[in-house]
This record gives sequence, structure tokens and C-alpha cells, in this order.
Amino acid sequence: MQTLTPSAQATDLSTILEQIHTEAQALFGQGRVASYIPALAEVAPRQFGMAVALVDGSTYSVGHAHTPFSLQSITKLFTFVLALKTVGDNLWQRVGREPSGAAFNSMVQLETEKGIPRNPFINAGALVITDILTTRYAHLDYALLGALRRLTDDPDLSWNARIARSERETAHRNMALAYFMKSYGNFVNEPELVLDNYCRQCATEMSCTQLAQATMFLANGGRDLGRDGQQDEQFLAADDARRVNALMLTCGAYDAAGDFAYRIGLPVKTGVGGGIVAIAPGVGTIAVWAPELDAKGNSVLGAFALERLVQLTAWNHTP
Ligand code: GLN
Repeated sequence: MQTLTPSAQATDLSTILEQIHTEAQALFGQGRVASYIPALAEVAPRQFGMAVALVDGSTYSVGHAHTPFSLQSITKLFTFVLALKTVGDNLWQRVGREPSGAAFNSMVQLETEKGIPRNPFINAGALVITDILTTRYAHLDYALLGALRRLTDDPDLSWNARIARSERETAHRNMALAYFMKSYGNFVNEPELVLDNYCRQCATEMSCTQLAQATMFLANGGRDLGRDGQQDEQFLAADDARRVNALMLTCGAYDAAGDFAYRIGLPVKTGVGGGIVAIAPGVGTIAVWAPELDAKGNSVLGAFALERLVQLTAWNHTP
């Protein structure tokens, strides 16, 4: 196992990413592109991109790292952070913070737990978060986009309207989750309105390089890095950044969270678009994208690439 020193970092990291890119290609064909959202099924399967952003401002990338992809559940990370910033700890009255051990779109726990979802990163929990934000913002879709454009420094960042529509037309299970929670009094707005916001949110597109940049505040004590003459910004309180990372470690990969912690040992958030973002606190962020998914909805090559990266850098032991 190799630990990177700052001087060795630049060449080593580029070499490591190239090596991972080469190794990962052997896994093409092992997973399947998500098809329950019809428009996602059209994505070409054999793609792989990876980007690393370090807290010193340096960035590294390989493969399709500049290709925009559908963030899907990775947006649950951003809506959760937005809710934490706007309503604070009050949100814990409506959603828990325990791993679910069940599929991301499962209904089973909701009945025994009286409409309170296990955590904000499964669909039911994310729908509650979007409900909270729908109450707070007249135009949540644009409020979220504004925050993401600021974090990526990309004024053109947007959601893919075709994918949003495709999910909205087939969102029967998510609608059922929302109505079920409403029956327990844990849903304020009309499910139709919240689902409109949720499907747009999930259809947000970013590349790996943008995703690594957008999550930098989580590796950097809540502080986003200043770029292009901008000042650093305390985007999230340091204590909250620590809490978000803890939740990502325990709940960020749905019912594979334990396996991810075992294999990778870093806070992660995955999505059925094939993206995964990982945080190495104090070191940097890693975004990887490869659309072929395993049975639990996580990117096969993405998980492999992150596992190899921590093996080759020992970032899960630092700082
Ligand atoms: N939009 C997707 C859904 O609600 C997101 C799921 C995911 O990425 N795991 O089903």
C-alpha cells in the first residue's frame, strides 16, 4: 500500500487514475444500465469517468470525466444539505438517521415505523426532505439549481427535462411512498407537486469533475474552495459537514452501505445514473461514473474504482 506525499502526489495520482481506468474496463458487461426510468435505459453502458479534487485546489481526471450524467440519488445529498441549512435539526422530527438495510425504494419499514423513513438517502426519506424544501421555497427546482450552479461555478448547469418527464410519468412507486407518508401525517404538500420537484432534482446532470468540485465543502470542513477570484465560502457549518459525512458512510449506498464501508471506508453517495461521489475528509473528493449497475442499484465499475483508489492511496486512513 502506498501513501502519497505532496511532492509525489501529482504524477502518482495521474498514474493511479490511469491504472484504475485500465483495470476497470475488465468489468464492463457485469452490470446493467437502469431501465425502470425509461430514458435512463438509453445511456450507452460502456462508459467510465473518474475525477479527483484535492483540498489544495488541484484536480485529476481520467476517461469520460467531463461527460454530464444523470445524478439521480446523488441529488439526495444536496437536498439534505439544503434542508440542514434551512431548517436545521428540526428535520429529524420527520426522518431518521439509521441505515435501512432495505432497497432504496422499499416500502416495508414505513408501515411499522409509522410513516417516518429511516434516513434522508432512501427514496421515502428524500421525498420528505423535498417536501420540507417545497414548503420553504416557492420554486425549489431553481433554488436547488442556484446552489448547485454556485458550487460548480457553472451557470449552465441544469436538469434534463426529458429524463425528468420520463421518471415523472412512471413514478408510481414514489407516489405511493408519498401518499403512504401523507396518511401518517408526515407529508405536508400535495404529493404531485413534490414529485414534480423530486423528478427534476433527480434529473440534474453533472460531470465527474463538476461533482467532485461541488462536494468539496464536505472534505474541507464545510468550506467551498474559492475559484476564479472568488473568496472561499463557509457553505455549511463544519459540525454539519461532519454529520453529513457520517450519514453518507452509514446510509449513502442504500442496502449496500455496509459493503461499501467495508470495501472503501469513505463516506459515499450513489445514484442509479451510475455515479458515485466519495469524500476523503481533509484530503479531497472523488467522483466516478459508469452506468452499469449491480442488483442494488450501485455502479459496478464505480465501486471497484473507489476500492482500488483507497488501496493505492490509503486515503481511508487519513487524516
Ligand atoms: N430517481 C430515482 C428514483 O427515485 C433515484 C433512485 C436512485 O438513484 N437510487 O427511483
